[in-house]
Amino acid sequence: MIGIDIGGSNARVALVDGARIVAARQLETGRQRSPDDICTAIADAAHSLVEENTARVAGAGVGVAGQVDPTNGLVHYAPNLDWHDVPIRDRLSHALDLPVAVLNDVQAAAFGEYRYGAARGADDTVALFVGTGVGGGIIMGGELMRGCNGSAGEIGHIPIELSGAECRCGRHGCLEAYVGGWAIARRVREAVDARPGEAAFLKELAGGSADTLSAEILAQAATTGDPLALEIVGEIAYLLGVGLAAIANAFNPCLIVLGGAVIEGTPKLMEVAEDVARKRALPGAVRSLRVRRAELNSFAGTIGAAAWARHSLERSP
Ligand SMILES: [Zn+2]
Repeated sequence: MIGIDIGGSNARVALVDGARIVAARQLETGRQRSPDDICTAIADAAHSLVEENTARVAGAGVGVAGQVDPTNGLVHYAPNLDWHDVPIRDRLSHALDLPVAVLNDVQAAAFGEYRYGAARGADDTVALFVGTGVGGGIIMGGELMRGCNGSAGEIGHIPIELSGAECRCGRHGCLEAYVGGWAIARRVREAVDARPGEAAFLKELAGGSADTLSAEILAQAATTGDPLALEIVGEIAYLLGVGLAAIANAFNPCLIVLGGAVIEGTPKLMEVAEDVARKRALPGAVRSLRVRRAELNSFAGTIGAAAWARHSLERSP
């Protein structure tokens, strides 16, 4: 199978055998390249991977960072690529001369974790990835939930505060506006402005500039026991826990998989959030709940897209 993960700044094209990446290429995407140009570059990369490895492939799966309708293979909107109603499935299928299945990149990563990663065998799983943004994918009864228009799993935009912090989606109080990497950077900058005396270590780590304060610097400061950093991590963990409680109440998953740079890098974040979720959710919603770290890391989307393509092929008449 060919797995393709199209993000806002680059795309990864890989020859995938189950959970194994046989060979991979990376190429630039971004708003400066047209959809046609990107599709051509992806097809060229896929052709050369197949030729170099003398591989036989049955199909390709594509995860795209945007609103995707898997039924008609359209990317309705991908803000970081500036794509509007791009018929990605048909274009790639034509260029590759293969059947192509399309879904959202985070749904692909969740499906990858379900098939080959931390959620193997857990038929009722919610995967939440906390990086710069926050995205999710929901597997219920062994099926990936896509929703009416393909956008199921936008957990980052669950409101957790009525008139809360502004989110990048233009709304207020979303989970992402508190726990996404960009929001953490904003929160750290606010704390440094408001409490300069206590923020000396954070500022030192940032090289003295407020502009370079980030979620990574917060995690670094918290690891060394800096009190202000630990206080902010505690706030973030609490709010993440509130989000997990909402997920547990809505879906009653057996497993929540947490991944992404913020989860991987921030000490105690997952443990505290899990504890909060267990206290805030209805008892019946968390009775059998397990919380685990994601396993496939940055290849989850590529592996998941390929797995989704195989799944779609097996189901097609
Ligand atoms: Zn939002």
